[in-house]
Amino acid sequence: MSARKAYDDVLRLMREHHEWFNRSIPLIASENVPSPAVREACMSDFANRYAEGWPGERVYAGCVYIDQVELICNDLARRVFKSEFADCRATSGVVANLAIYAAFSNPGDWMMAASIPTGGHISHGKKEHAGTAGLVHGLNIEHYPFLREEMTIDVDGTKKKIEEMARDGKKPTLAMFGGSLFLFPHPVKELSQFMHDHGIHINYDGAHVAGLIAGGEFQDPLREGADTMTMSSHKTLWGPQGGIIVAYEKFADGIKKGIFPGNTSSHHLHHVAGKAIALAESLEFGKDYARQVVRNAKALAGALAEAGFGVLGEKRGYTMSHQMAVDVTKFGDGGTIEKDLEKAGIILNRQLLPGDIKAGRHYMHPGGVRIGVPEVTRLGMKESEMKEIASFIKRVVVDKKDPAQVAKDVAEFRRQYQKVQYAFDNAVGAYEYISLVNRR
Ligand SMILES: *Cc1c(COP(=O)(O)O)cnc(C)c1O
Repeated sequence: MSARKAYDDVLRLMREHHEWFNRSIPLIASENVPSPAVREACMSDFANRYAEGWPGERVYAGCVYIDQVELICNDLARRVFKSEFADCRATSGVVANLAIYAAFSNPGDWMMAASIPTGGHISHGKKEHAGTAGLVHGLNIEHYPFLREEMTIDVDGTKKKIEEMARDGKKPTLAMFGGSLFLFPHPVKELSQFMHDHGIHINYDGAHVAGLIAGGEFQDPLREGADTMTMSSHKTLWGPQGGIIVAYEKFADGIKKGIFPGNTSSHHLHHVAGKAIALAESLEFGKDYARQVVRNAKALAGALAEAGFGVLGEKRGYTMSHQMAVDVTKFGDGGTIEKDLEKAGIILNRQLLPGDIKAGRHYMHPGGVRIGVPEVTRLGMKESEMKEIASFIKRVVVDKKDPAQVAKDVAEFRRQYQKVQYAFDNAVGAYEYISLVNRR
């Protein structure tokens, strides 16, 4: 392939991606669509600069405006999450977690975390699974006992386990709450006193639910006893991809060193500007948005259950967050269903469910799918649209209709939702492709 062809192909493929998303229903629980202002930040010259260190104490010159933006960003993060301290330099949620491991544990220490099938994230994982905590920081991991009916961590079982570990000389130094399959709040309030009595540092990984916490939904980890909270800036929070850490002031020094020089050099300043804009939007519109996200999730879960799907957490109303877990074993496997739905313009992901491993299912063909509503909510959809989405999913998965046919109806449905809502500005379309080289 000639250089020119490769160049043209990349530009064309990006444009086609935008057009595809503009006629699809995006339901990946960890994704969202940023406002035009956040996209503008990502295109700015901030992307090409270095600002190692802390605002006012930089290792580089040229940071006059960058420093002001980063100070605004930190201030907004403190206000949105009501925290004493904020560091917005982590380039991702995983990097934020690495900074916490570096600051508050040593290789060889033990950490409590949720297992992957019960919702844990690979960055909390064991070395034998190539999990970040084990592989990169040398932590040993013990999993929380899990209540499958309630779909959350077992409080009494956890206390017993930690006491046993202490007796065996394996007392944990860190406890990680939060996860990626995350339907109901974790018992931070119920366990924080017990953990602190055992000298355990508590980090809450709010990667998925940061936008809900910002809007006063789900739970309030720092008030419930978490010492520090890490997050991604681009899931239910609608910023550019990146990470943020908020914490009590006494942990500030450790976190700052854990980020720089510990785990970053460049900290992606265009994304810091984007995070600042997203946090300002959250301060203004975050409450209404978070409330609607949770309502939409409950509405979609209920409609799917009515359509014959096995939605997990039925006993507790399916979900209290932005996502739901659906057992699809009656209709096929999660991997095949993911692909069929993608052909229909319904974009979601397969999901390993609690019990899958024991049943002999694995990551490529698990028993479930995970569905999230942060992005469709940002596009302005409400409960009635959730019913329509459930019927599109049913046509493909239950009625086995031709996905290409459903795709046409999906595209028609999507035409009414072209703009980002809950934003100061939305003149540019949510997925409108902005070209700098082919200016129309
Ligand atoms: C997505 C996720 C992360 C990783 O975040 P990135 O920003 O993709 O690095 C960390 N923890 C949890 C629980 C997540 O779901």
